[in-house]
Amino acid sequence: MEVRGIGDETAKQLASLQLYSVFDLLEHFPFRYEDYQVRPIEEIKHDERATVVGTVQSEPTVRYYGKKKNRMSVRVLVGHVLLTAVFFNRAFLKQQLKVGQEVTLTGKWDQHRLTLTVNEVKQGNHTERATVEPIYSVSGKLTSKTLKKYIHVALRQFGEQITDPLPPEIRERYKLVSKREAVFHLHMPSDREALKQARRRMVYEEFLFFQLKMQAFRKVNREQSNGRAVKVNEQKVDQFIAALPFSLTEAQEKVAGEILTDMSSPYRMNRLLQGDVGSGKTVVAAICMFAAVTAGKQAALMVPTEILAEQHAQSLERLFAPSGVRLTLLTGSVKGKRRQAAVTAVKAGDVDVVIGTHALIQDDVAFHDLGLVITDEQHRFGVEQRRALRDKGAYPDVLFMTATPIPRTLAISAFGDMDVSIINQMPAGRKEIETYWAKHDMLTRVLDFMEKELAKGRQAYVICPLIEESEKLDVQNAIDVHSILQQHFEPRFQVGLMHGRLHPSEKDTVMTAFSENKIRILVSTTVVEVGVNVPNATIMVIYDAERFGLAQLHQLRGRVGRGEHQSYCILLADPKSEVGKERMRIMTETNDGFTLSERDLELRGPGDFFGAKQSGLPDFKVADVVHDYRALETARQDAATLVNSKTFWSDPKYRELVTYLQAEGVLDGEKLD
Ligand code: ADP
Ligand code: MG
Repeated sequence: MEVRGIGDETAKQLASLQLYSVFDLLEHFPFRYEDYQVRPIEEIKHDERATVVGTVQSEPTVRYYGKKKNRMSVRVLVGHVLLTAVFFNRAFLKQQLKVGQEVTLTGKWDQHRLTLTVNEVKQGNHTERATVEPIYSVSGKLTSKTLKKYIHVALRQFGEQITDPLPPEIRERYKLVSKREAVFHLHMPSDREALKQARRRMVYEEFLFFQLKMQAFRKVNREQSNGRAVKVNEQKVDQFIAALPFSLTEAQEKVAGEILTDMSSPYRMNRLLQGDVGSGKTVVAAICMFAAVTAGKQAALMVPTEILAEQHAQSLERLFAPSGVRLTLLTGSVKGKRRQAAVTAVKAGDVDVVIGTHALIQDDVAFHDLGLVITDEQHRFGVEQRRALRDKGAYPDVLFMTATPIPRTLAISAFGDMDVSIINQMPAGRKEIETYWAKHDMLTRVLDFMEKELAKGRQAYVICPLIEESEKLDVQNAIDVHSILQQHFEPRFQVGLMHGRLHPSEKDTVMTAFSENKIRILVSTTVVEVGVNVPNATIMVIYDAERFGLAQLHQLRGRVGRGEHQSYCILLADPKSEVGKERMRIMTETNDGFTLSERDLELRGPGDFFGAKQSGLPDFKVADVVHDYRALETARQDAATLVNSKTFWSDPKYRELVTYLQAEGVLDGEKLD
């Protein structure tokens, strides 16, 4: 199918936007809408974008800066206000701005200077027609306007062929407009209400498709019984648990039970284990890995940093050694012959448990018989990395562990295909961490406070400011703070330094000295953010805490409060914004990761929640998992009902949905019904 007027050159431009077919084009929806509803100039706030209608009062004056840059200004009377309209690099519009000409201007309003910085100008009064103007994301030479033109041509040519994948019963239930109408109105909204209805319809559709995929995946995963039930030696596992230095919390017991049941069932486990920082996920992981080994399988644990890998390797070695479980470490700094030896042993089955970073998923690593894969703090891994590891074995059971409690709305979207276990209880005897917010000018008092704790034998972390996008600056900060603290505390208390640029062996030396209580104060960048476990450390000082998100602050705080002693978290911050202040307040008010994550999501939005673009959340064209969470819940329930209903896979009214699932590779037809 070809859209009239789109030649090879344009097709290339469209391809750069990932638009290859007519339907890609039709579903390339605007990313925002310009509201052309005219308002009296007095009502428009400073810095707001607005559309006004006025009359040109003066000849435009143009100033040139070099060949391409220029600034044109012209006086325009809008209502009773004589404002200056400013145009950047648009001197070619000069001819259109004759004195006495009526113009419609859209731009950003500077109330103090009475200046409108214009990005859209039309001759005459243009506000009666379209009040909502779609704006498209574009790249290269293509402009939003040109793209709009192509889309309109495509709509005229092919719009009638748009069919509705949603069965009538669903459309009626939620009073949704047809797909055709929705697509038309998203591109050419006649007014706000039409746009709203169009959006509502597409949001539901996007969520339903997405959830259908998740629910179908889940069903297929569960029912794909390849006789892979792992035969765990329960007696040995019980002995292992009994030999632990502490008794499990009820929550740990329950969760371990859920996981072991999954492992012994013919279903392939695909489970998310959520537990707040310090709730004791590692030991649960250890039990499950041990169980896999008793069944003659290998187990792998993948973590995001080398420090964490090494720490896990050490503590698990201690737990496993008495039972003769053979363990090896595979990280980026295990190189050359050592790596070769490890890889060979893993392949030959001479190693039972492998702990590592993403070095684990490199191509040269093959397992002898991988039965269980665990990823710790998995929100740091991309979906692809998760999948790569899972694909290393023939249907190994998979457990994802995360200490970043994921708000429900994200959990069911990013992990909708998984079962979820939650450790909702802290080991007994834990004291609540006391959190304080101090301004930077109170640093002396903070240092005095540290002094007292250190004198009691405790240890402290001092986390340095985070400079967005620049690890180099982070490191510089850490170096500076380190030397300041050295001057203050040494030789009474040794101050160590840790950051990502240290050589792995140096990191090792520092971490070991800290965990042996030789280094008393550890100045660090956020590399210690996840997982690190030194129970004697009771103070966490975070410089410039306003630069961190709530989830990250909570992670950092979780480095203390891991032992019997009362622990403290001190946030050094002079936040300027309200959001920044709010974050500090929330931190001092709650220690509960789930409450925090809900608040964080509200403050930051879903994109930022997981940090990088590795969230596992699909890119919805219209929908927004936070704002449209009710629709997401509804769609999820509907999807589950559909996927599990007897008629779904055969009834013609669901054909488009089923076809979609097949195209997504979800369905393995024979295995389902
Ligand atoms: P996280 O869930 O943050 O990964 P860890 O597994 O690192 O937590 O456990 C935190 C600390 O609590 C560790 O020092 C661990 O040995 C200890 N711990 C774990 N479970 C228990 C328990 N049931 N009783 C006492 N201490 C425990
Ligand atoms: Mg952990």
